[in-house]
Amino acid sequence: MGVGAPIGLLGGSFDPIHNGHLQLGRDALKQLPLQEVRFIPAAQPWQKARITAAEYRARMVQLAIAGEPRFALDMHEIERGGVSYTIDTLHALRSALPDHPLVLIMGTDQFARLDTWRDWREVVDLAHIAVARRGAAALAPSANVHCLLDARRSKPSALTSSRGGSIVEFAMTPVDVSATEVRRLLSESESAEKAQRLSAMVPAVVLDYIDSHRLYRT
Ligand code: ATP
Repeated sequence: MGVGAPIGLLGGSFDPIHNGHLQLGRDALKQLPLQEVRFIPAAQPWQKARITAAEYRARMVQLAIAGEPRFALDMHEIERGGVSYTIDTLHALRSALPDHPLVLIMGTDQFARLDTWRDWREVVDLAHIAVARRGAAALAPSANVHCLLDARRSKPSALTSSRGGSIVEFAMTPVDVSATEVRRLLSESESAEKAQRLSAMVPAVVLDYIDSHRLYRT
């Protein structure tokens, strides 16, 4: 079977989407041979108990990526509903895109804990993994993940030669933001400093949406 163009997959809660997620996607597109990057909001992430309703999170992703032709919103996990496991999403995408290498894009924080994911060894067989190095931040993976990295570390060109199984690293411009910090700031009382900090962390169109739907007030 021939191999199609690799497709990047960026999963997360996106509660809300922020400039760190967008930079991760842009740097992956710039440095890896990807056709596109799909943003996949989780329905119910298995690591998190409380989360904003899926339709708000998906809409914020849609607004944030609207001007970027090689970014797409992927609704697989939200449409499936329930607790989202990457392994189920990969099976669904593999059936829909049988020839394309699938490339899971993630930050070092997620990669270091990969062995806590459901069926993690199968995840790494079904897809490639692209890990973003943020500045000088070192990878501190668990022993399992360390072994995996030793065995599978490859050059970006490996992404085009098979449909999964390699691990590649790429450098990303660090953006110091987390959704936790965005939610914390949004719950604070109004101030010029808060507005200024938020505008450096989240696209204006997303902040307008958050404001008009009164999200993250408490
Ligand atoms: P939270 O603070 O609620 O845990 P988060 O900001 O880490 O959320 P997620 O939606 O959980 O966002 O993350 C999705 C993906 O984006 C993960 O792979 C994570 O490593 C990556 N990511 C999150 N923030 C950044 C950032 N500032 N720079 C690069 N990657 C990021």
